[in-house]
Amino acid sequence: MSRTYDVVVAGAGAAGLAAATSARQTDPSASILLVNGEDRFPYKRTKVSKAIADGFSADEFAVHPEEWYRDRQIERLDGVSITAIDTDTRTISFADGAEDVTYGRLVLALGGDPLFPRIVRPHEQGSFFVLRTARDGEVLRERAHRAKSVLIAGMGVLAVELAYQLRKMGKNVTLAGATPQLMPRQLNARAGEILEDVLAANKVKMLFQEEILSFERNKKNWTVEMLKHAAHYDMVVFCIGVSPRTGEARAAGLTVERGIVVDSALRTSDPHVYAAGDCAQHPDGTVTYLWHSAEDQGRVAGVNAAGGDASFDELPHRLKSRVFDQYVFSIRKPREPWEFEVDEFENERQFYALYWDSDGTLHGAVMMNDEDYAPTLEAAVREGWDRTRVLGALELDDE
Ligand SMILES: Cc1cc2nc3c(=O)[nH]c(=O)nc-3n(C[C@H](O)[C@H](O)[C@H](O)COP(=O)(O)OP(=O)(O)OC[C@H]3O[C@@H](n4cnc5c(N)ncnc54)[C@H](O)[C@@H]3O)c2cc1C
Repeated sequence: MSRTYDVVVAGAGAAGLAAATSARQTDPSASILLVNGEDRFPYKRTKVSKAIADGFSADEFAVHPEEWYRDRQIERLDGVSITAIDTDTRTISFADGAEDVTYGRLVLALGGDPLFPRIVRPHEQGSFFVLRTARDGEVLRERAHRAKSVLIAGMGVLAVELAYQLRKMGKNVTLAGATPQLMPRQLNARAGEILEDVLAANKVKMLFQEEILSFERNKKNWTVEMLKHAAHYDMVVFCIGVSPRTGEARAAGLTVERGIVVDSALRTSDPHVYAAGDCAQHPDGTVTYLWHSAEDQGRVAGVNAAGGDASFDELPHRLKSRVFDQYVFSIRKPREPWEFEVDEFENERQFYALYWDSDGTLHGAVMMNDEDYAPTLEAAVREGWDRTRVLGALELDDE
């Protein structure tokens, strides 16, 4: 007979760990199972792309030690993946012969799967590298030791962080992507230019508005044909984004669009199943793709799965990154910047782009190299400060 838990959390990343924690806080006597698909304690994924050059030990980034789970009676199933969900019998099946379990409430916190370009067929994906898990980071680091040249497909934050790490390892690094600038989701054009100059000065080659047309494996390396270039690389890494992991939910009959569709309580189309983090699609159609947001969602889903009553209001969360000698900070940079009034401030090292709502309050911001003011800027966006207060607090000259 299968074991039964009041709450099962599938996936032990930012959202899953937060869900198990808040479920325990909400119901001290609930039986809770956390299904951890990875081969180590739940860990801070964001650290992986910052530690490729130096390397890291198996549990270096663990959020909690073993006793933390024991003390809270959160049972963990490590290195096991869920393969199927039966929402009628509320049963979950696992790979590798682990016994089925049944749940009172289920939280899906399965994150996202790295994307590959269409020209890479599924059976070829293993020949290339991605960076989603700590294991991916270890494999990539190991191979990079033997490589001279690396092509990173992508221009986003992960691609830029990896370029920095690989330059620290002394590799020849090329970034290639479809966009006309670096980190277009987080940076405006000017900040992208500043960062581009820094990468160029650090000998990172950048191929903008480029498309990979084909790969050919030679004895020692790859020949990569692009729209405007062709070159040889020892390894190729894809950092072109993630797609919400939805296969299990779709097969279970839950409503799935881009992600697993949830309401403001993070409930899916099945009232006994919740979804949180990078696998969840919110009522406004967004998927968040940020660590702190995944944690917030996990907390809400965990409370509700344990019988509480919480709702998810998306707070603006910042993304920060340190690459080369730059500190890069971005919070709620609008996707349609032309709909906002924007002010830019720049001196030799620092840069700000401030986006104003029509009522004169701060909507979002991009900042470089003024780290001491990051908390102020975050508060200003979250609390919607007006222009005078923002410029005064950031000591920016309104000339
Ligand atoms: C290298 C890297 C660096 C990043 N840096 C930043 C940053 O600086 N700031 C920021 O805000 N965000 C960053 N992100 C994004 C951030 O890490 C994610 O938004 C966040 O981890 C999402 O949390 P999640 O719990 O939804 O998913 P995840 O953290 O991906 O966790 C999902 C878990 O579910 C597991 N899983 C998947 N399928 C199954 C299955 N069938 N059965 C069991 N388990 C399964 C996965 O293995 C994984 O452990 C980074 C991402 C990466 C990859």
